[in-house]
Amino acid sequence: MPRERTYRTRAIILKHRDQGEADRVITAITPAQGKCTLIAKGVRKPASRKAGHLEPFTHVALLAAKARGWDIITQAESIHSFPGLRADIDRMAFAYYFAELVDAFTQEEDSQPEVYDLLLRALGYLEQGENLEMAARWFELRLLRLSGYQPQLFQCLECGEPLQPVTNYLSLERGGMLCPRHGEGVAGAEPLGVGVLKILRYVQSQPYAVLAQLTLSPARGRQVEGLLASYIRYVLERKLKSPQFIQQVTRLR
Ligand SMILES: [Zn+2]
Repeated sequence: MPRERTYRTRAIILKHRDQGEADRVITAITPAQGKCTLIAKGVRKPASRKAGHLEPFTHVALLAAKARGWDIITQAESIHSFPGLRADIDRMAFAYYFAELVDAFTQEEDSQPEVYDLLLRALGYLEQGENLEMAARWFELRLLRLSGYQPQLFQCLECGEPLQPVTNYLSLERGGMLCPRHGEGVAGAEPLGVGVLKILRYVQSQPYAVLAQLTLSPARGRQVEGLLASYIRYVLERKLKSPQFIQQVTRLR
């Protein structure tokens, strides 16, 4: 009989769901294999020692065995379970959101070590940091960049001219900014003031340590959050229609 092929990997657990009587299906992101679906057998039995290591957002060292369907987790040991994050409902809510975004933006069998690193750092900021909103904006813009959807915030997408400090136009469809000459009156292009554009540029270009010092008024904060949420929604809807994504979904059926 051929020996089972086992492998070791680090992973961050994105989510899990119950399967059958005692098993759990785990979605995780790994440095080398990208997003993976694995199964942990018997993990819901009281005697199982694996369960605690396979909770969402846990950074874990896995030993897994290749299988026909989902690979099987044979050992799981936490590297860091982010206890400071778990103790706080607000931090937890952001962590769920980050994991959901990574799940939505990544495909299986598509190695993206930068996304893995990004999520690990972002969970650290959520655990230690005080400015959770800014951690979220930082994370959103970094994930968009790594996924190839970085919004163009510095030049007009039509003429390539640097944007002037006036009201310019944001087009979700084009993936960024248009100057007044090319944006005004264009369907789907919304006016965007200098103040908000400056904040978006700042978040896109500065490290979290710098951004953590930045306090926005609640209104400004909501405006920036809303803009990025619309952009992410737009990108994900377009992604849903992409051939690569459809292929992946079909394969899962
Ligand atoms: Zn232009």
